[in-house]
Amino acid sequence: STQPDFLTVSDLHAGYGQARVLQGLDFSVARGEVCAILGPNGAGKTTTLRALCGMVRGRGSITLNGTQLLGRSPEQAARAGVAHVPEGRGTFNELTVEENLRIGAHVRTGLGRRGRAARAAVAADLERIYGHFPKLRQRSRQAAGSLSGGEQQMLAIGRALMLRPSLLLLDEPSLGLAPLVTRELFEIVRAVNEEERTTVIVVEQNAQLALDIAHRAHVLEAGRLVLSGPARQIREDGQVAEVYLGVS
Ligand code: ATP
Repeated sequence: STQPDFLTVSDLHAGYGQARVLQGLDFSVARGEVCAILGPNGAGKTTTLRALCGMVRGRGSITLNGTQLLGRSPEQAARAGVAHVPEGRGTFNELTVEENLRIGAHVRTGLGRRGRAARAAVAADLERIYGHFPKLRQRSRQAAGSLSGGEQQMLAIGRALMLRPSLLLLDEPSLGLAPLVTRELFEIVRAVNEEERTTVIVVEQNAQLALDIAHRAHVLEAGRLVLSGPARQIREDGQVAEVYLGVS
């Protein structure tokens, strides 16, 4: 049902100055898929997402729908349909929930477009986001800083979705959240993927949870992919789980 090669990463090398982190990654993600990137601390998971959204330079190739993303700025990547929710969320504490969401819309529409049609589009997007995250609607006039950790993560994802991205990048969404909250969050991500056909790449320490919503998974170790396959297969492979994912 899904088309192959919506996103294609080929021989991707990236790092920070002299520090070479990614040492030749090859993987592809089909349109509409949820892809999990797993692996130990320092493996390069975050760096992979940063390369996809223009935050780190690299060599090799990253194509989205045939368009080269490598070498683009974060703004250009966003315009190409890539939305990034970094670890730590990056929402504005002093602004209300709704103000944070409207900032997400500005990235898409540009500050110059304030016509009636643009306002209607933003209103429709807010409804869409509140539909996915009823808790954000309840707290729309509350300062983001007063939200719980789980609600702040919902807000960060909601803000990214205001972009109407074709590719959503989530970095450790479960960080610091209670298991029940994380499960609720992941169920919403699954619903967004199913209802909006948004392609999702999620980086997670919590491999079990990520594998529950992912279609495919890749295991990174020291900047290289050591394993790729259907999430079900990776979840059910006991040895894999023990060796790479720290579970058994
Ligand atoms: P974690 O779960 O710990 O975030 P990760 O798999 O996401 O792990 P990365 O964050 O991609 O790993 O980091 C890979 C390597 O790059 C690590 O050795 C890290 O110290 C290094 N690194 C990350 N960010 C920077 C930076 N801004 N400058 C220099 N080195 C960095």
